[in-house]
Amino acid sequence: MPESLSQPPALSLIDRFGRRLNYLRISLTDACNLRCIYCMPEQMTFMPRSHLMTDAELFTVVRVLVDLGVDKIRLTGGEPTVRPQLVEIVRRLAALPGVRDLSMTTNGLLLPQLAEPLARAGLDRINISIDTLDPAKFKRITRWGKLDTVWAGLEAAEAAGLRPLKINAVVTRDFNDDEVVDLARLTLQREWHIRFIELMPFGSEADFAQSAVVSSTETRQRIEAALGPLQPVPGHDLHDPARPYRLAGAQGQIGFISTITEPFCAGCNRLRLTADGKLRLCLLRDGEFDILTPLRQGVDSATLRQRIHAAAYHKPWGHGLPSGDIPQLRLMSQIGG
Ligand code: SAM
Ligand code: SF4
Repeated sequence: MPESLSQPPALSLIDRFGRRLNYLRISLTDACNLRCIYCMPEQMTFMPRSHLMTDAELFTVVRVLVDLGVDKIRLTGGEPTVRPQLVEIVRRLAALPGVRDLSMTTNGLLLPQLAEPLARAGLDRINISIDTLDPAKFKRITRWGKLDTVWAGLEAAEAAGLRPLKINAVVTRDFNDDEVVDLARLTLQREWHIRFIELMPFGSEADFAQSAVVSSTETRQRIEAALGPLQPVPGHDLHDPARPYRLAGAQGQIGFISTITEPFCAGCNRLRLTADGKLRLCLLRDGEFDILTPLRQGVDSATLRQRIHAAAYHKPWGHGLPSGDIPQLRLMSQIGG
């Protein structure tokens, strides 16, 4: 037998629809220092610490996933910056052979002090969530957040070289749908990427989300009516749900994440690891695969690897929102987006 055929091909994560799953989103905690109205109730109860993966458990699982071909990792939450030892976690993730892209989604509140250490530890890029440029509205949407602090965090991230800097804006009817033009206008002077996200329904917040959803088409029409046509930016990553556009003469880009009205499931390459150690196969489906329990029962890495491989194979094709199938078991803050 020729040498090249003697070894089986390295196992990688391919689902039954042939999608290669190389992008892992890790929720580092379900806790948060804000309470955005569409994300969680004001009186939110967070998980006890003993339910969350320790750093050692997290790295055991991540090493297996990286070995199976995950090469792109995003840290999220809750709010990832409230996880103890975050900078050290980033340093260790960035050092894993095979990880070529390490990013984070954050509300930005703690970035004034963390942006620089995170960049030095090896974080490549960052997404900051800002739904409005009006401090009073920002406070209303986040329930107590200060826009000034987030803005300082955004400037700190840019100064630290975390580029391209992306801003996530969830568009919510009667809260910030009248602000999309002002947000889009930021791209004229700055190299930022603004991404408008359709509101998604989860558990106890689902009724609100369904009544307040604004379609990307409506958002786009509003922007174009005020600022002129959006031109597609060529050469974008086909796995990125936000197809990029640019206003004439703009420095930055504008994208639309249309999960509800134009699902992008065919190009989905994502797996999610929740803070309590569940592999979630689709953002908008409740099906999860428990990894932490067998890990705590002492399962070895080889078995863990086989189980993760088998679970990933059964990633569902797409979400069931059109047929009224709304995720009930977790809120967005317990998954991370
Ligand atoms: N705390 C971090 C933040 O706010 O960026 C990371 C976690 S947060 C759950 C990730 C993203 O999900 C944020 O951009 C947030 O605005 C968005 N998000 C939260 N709830 C949502 C919902 N119901 N529908 C759509 N996006 C949502
Ligand atoms: Fe916290 Fe982010 Fe959810 Fe806002 S969107 S409550 S910042 S987890």
